[in-house]
Amino acid sequence: MNLRLRFAISFILIALVSIVAVVAFARVNVAREVNTYMFRGGMVGVNVLVSNLEVYYQSNGSWEGVSAQLDTARTNGGHMAGMLGKEGQGAMQQDMLLADMNYEILYDTRRARMGEALSVSEKAGAIVLLGSDSQPVGYLFISGGMQFQPGADRELVDKLNQAAINAGLIAGGLSLLVAGLLGYLILRPVQRLTAAANRIASGDLAERVPVNGNDEMAVLGKAFNTMAQSLETAQINRKAMTADIAHELRTPLAIQRAILEAITDGIYPLDLQQIQLVTQQNQSLTRLVDDLRILALADAGELRLDIDTVDAKGLLSRLVAEFEPTVSERSIQLAIPGVDMNGQWLVRADAFRLGQVIKNLLSNACRYSPDGGAVISQLSREGNWILLSISDSGSGIPAGEEESIFERFFRSDQSRSREDGGTGLGLAIARQLARAHGGDLTAINKPEGGAQFILRLPAA
Ligand code: ADP
Repeated sequence: MNLRLRFAISFILIALVSIVAVVAFARVNVAREVNTYMFRGGMVGVNVLVSNLEVYYQSNGSWEGVSAQLDTARTNGGHMAGMLGKEGQGAMQQDMLLADMNYEILYDTRRARMGEALSVSEKAGAIVLLGSDSQPVGYLFISGGMQFQPGADRELVDKLNQAAINAGLIAGGLSLLVAGLLGYLILRPVQRLTAAANRIASGDLAERVPVNGNDEMAVLGKAFNTMAQSLETAQINRKAMTADIAHELRTPLAIQRAILEAITDGIYPLDLQQIQLVTQQNQSLTRLVDDLRILALADAGELRLDIDTVDAKGLLSRLVAEFEPTVSERSIQLAIPGVDMNGQWLVRADAFRLGQVIKNLLSNACRYSPDGGAVISQLSREGNWILLSISDSGSGIPAGEEESIFERFFRSDQSRSREDGGTGLGLAIARQLARAHGGDLTAINKPEGGAQFILRLPAA
């Protein structure tokens, strides 16, 4: 059964249950109200008096004392005024006769016929007062009250019942219309989503749905659009990545081929120098493939980290010491100032991968610092995090590229980085690794110049 039909049926069922309940209650109450109105004094406003008189008789077992009570009620509206009921306050202005079950008058508002019997016509028009066993215990005659013959209520009750059924049918018809309309309105956004999802499935990733308001459908629409956006971005990235990989592979392959062809054609001699040139290109290809493999593993969530408690301070000092000889001839100063060497700088990390990230940051910092510059590494604690920052004295990251430098194959200066052997994957991998540790890697430009990379790691 489709959703629209289900909605419509639910609405109609709810409407039908309400309508049937209303009609049924109306029918039951109509019969009772008509009876009270016609035969129990309702029309002349003494229905409360009638039931109070009955209660009076049922609790006293006789009519004794009733006339005194009625007098009090009539003259001073004392506590027995309640006997007349709200609607009955005016009823005592009418002439009234109360007779016992033998039609002998017990109470007469005019005080003229006490002890007499009700006349035949009065008997016919009197309201029968019932005892607890529903047997007549007395009669109340209101002069001027309209008189109905038994059974006269039938026709009116039937008409009122018919009116209730007609109202029910009209309401049922209207609810059917409303159910159809509501079903259409509620499901229209779902249909739009379905159509958009189908278009996305067939490859149109630019497809979006209009989002209005803040209701659940709007939230679903927004989630759908976000999903479509990520799919589109992923597709763009994948295409760019494939193009970038092809591009990166082409250069070393072309160089290798040129050298090999030149040797084959006898242009270059087959000597160690040529072989070293080919080996260099082979190494950069190997590095690229290794980097790509790490990224692919991280993307697939399959990068296995051997997490342990690592002394970040010890690791940092060791790596800085390893770097020193490589930059000494450029007079770059490598320093770890202000770090409390006796303090505990323990992090939860894979020592090998963390080392890889730090090496990458140190090598970038040295590469972008001028000769005689300084590369400063620092450790600090922020709540449950250990922050490892590496800043340099280079020209900093070009404005607006603080995030882009973490993208794959991003290079601010294309030619220079490639000559340096950079693949443009170093920072992308470093950030992936930081995030795989539950931390992060960000970059800023220091106000005094130079870039600062901050690696955030969970403290042990
Ligand atoms: P590469 O291997 O080409 O160096 P990276 O991912 O390590 O690639 O860096 C990407 C880009 O980020 C670099 O091309 C460079 O433009 C920029 N970058 C990285 N480190 C620094 C730094 N310390 N100072 C300024 N720019 C930097």
